Amino acid sequence: LTHHHRVFYQDHFHAGGKVPLGLKTKGQRIVVTGGAGFVGSHLVDRLIARGDSVIVVDNFFTGQKENVMHHFGNPRFELIRHDVVEPLLLEVDQIYHLACPASPVHYNSLIRVYKTNVVGTLNMLGLAKRVGARFLLTSTSEVYGDPLQHPQVETYWGNVNPIGVRSCYDEGKRTAETLTMDYHRGAGVEARIARIFNTYGPRMCIDDGRVVSNFVAQALRKEPLTVYGDGQQTRSFQYVSDLVEGLMRLMEGEHVGPFNLGNPGEFTMIELAQVVQETIDPNAKIEFRPNTEDDPHKRKPDITKAKDLLGWEPKVSLRQGLPLMVSDFRQRIFGDQKEDSA
Ligand code: NAD
Ligand code: UDP
Ligand code: UDP
Repeated sequence: LTHHHRVFYQDHFHAGGKVPLGLKTKGQRIVVTGGAGFVGSHLVDRLIARGDSVIVVDNFFTGQKENVMHHFGNPRFELIRHDVVEPLLLEVDQIYHLACPASPVHYNSLIRVYKTNVVGTLNMLGLAKRVGARFLLTSTSEVYGDPLQHPQVETYWGNVNPIGVRSCYDEGKRTAETLTMDYHRGAGVEARIARIFNTYGPRMCIDDGRVVSNFVAQALRKEPLTVYGDGQQTRSFQYVSDLVEGLMRLMEGEHVGPFNLGNPGEFTMIELAQVVQETIDPNAKIEFRPNTEDDPHKRKPDITKAKDLLGWEPKVSLRQGLPLMVSDFRQRIFGDQKEDSA
């Protein structure tokens, strides 16, 4: 089949045969694992808008149907409830592999996180190999551990505790990167690796324990903002639309990576709390709590590589992005309450 025919064939197939002959689009068949989650659902929105056919594979461990419900009924959208730890047979052109519980509160389901990262990634790589699909892994800045280099460059190998409480996540992602490179070198799978730095935005889980979602929900509920430790540890916060743009450029580009995708604007947790106060409630109180074990002290991406090779850099600053998330949280927190009491 020529590319032309293949493209028609795909659309014809996924539209249940309803696309009239000759009315082909440029769309590709794309799987997004974890597509009912926070980042995945925003990616799905962009792919559908671009004209692709999207299959979301998700077991709803942390994601929700509500995040993709607006695509129900679209013939270019399918949702499969499936745990990627089990094998999966599909015919597709690209796989965005995002499935993974990504917040610290789930580190208590340690084995599940590790299995998803390792067995789940192995299965999706096996799928990519069998059908010749391009495969993108969403890895994490956590592969740098508690970094001894600042900011972090992709060539840095990291400082990771192999037996700590976060190891299922950071070592799991390191293994996922290893598998991805092995399938790339050994089996010829077209691979892409993104190392994502802390990302926030609408549709984040409200109570998943990540710092931005915690502070925003706390300020809206008139509760004190819980700063862990002395609050001098730093993170760099990226708005979700910037990340999605980076992931798509990486997938469509020529380079395997790994690429850091993050916003280099660096904030201490105290500074973040102050931005949340400015945005939501200047009277919000700050309360200090003991920090978690193995908490990285600093984190900031060096994004030179992504700038040079992908022509990508973030556009949305924390002060611009936070209000967009706040209106979504406000609606979900107070909208729900109204319904409950009605
Ligand atoms: P999320 O929890 O909102 O989304 C993850 C999705 O994967 C959820 O919909 C969940 O139900 C699904 N999932 C989990 N285990 C699964 C399994 N075994 N089979 C099928 N589906 C499964 O998290 P997110 O923030 O959207 O993260 C998406 C990806 O980006 C993750 O791989 C995460 O590690 C990576 N990442 C995110 C950030 C961030 O700050 N948000 C930072 C670094 C890396
Ligand atoms: N796999 C899958 N879907 C496919 C092809 C493979 O889920 O379309 C799984 C398969 O079950 C295996 C993993 O991917 O557990 C790795 O597959 P591969 O063919 O690389 O290894 P093998 O099956 O030879 O061990
Ligand atoms: N943190 C905090 N208050 C909270 C939640 C988290 O001060 O309510 C801190 C946490 O100790 C860490 C930083 O915020 O230093 C980022 O935590 P998060 O879990 O959001 O991301 P990660 O540690 O995975 O980068």
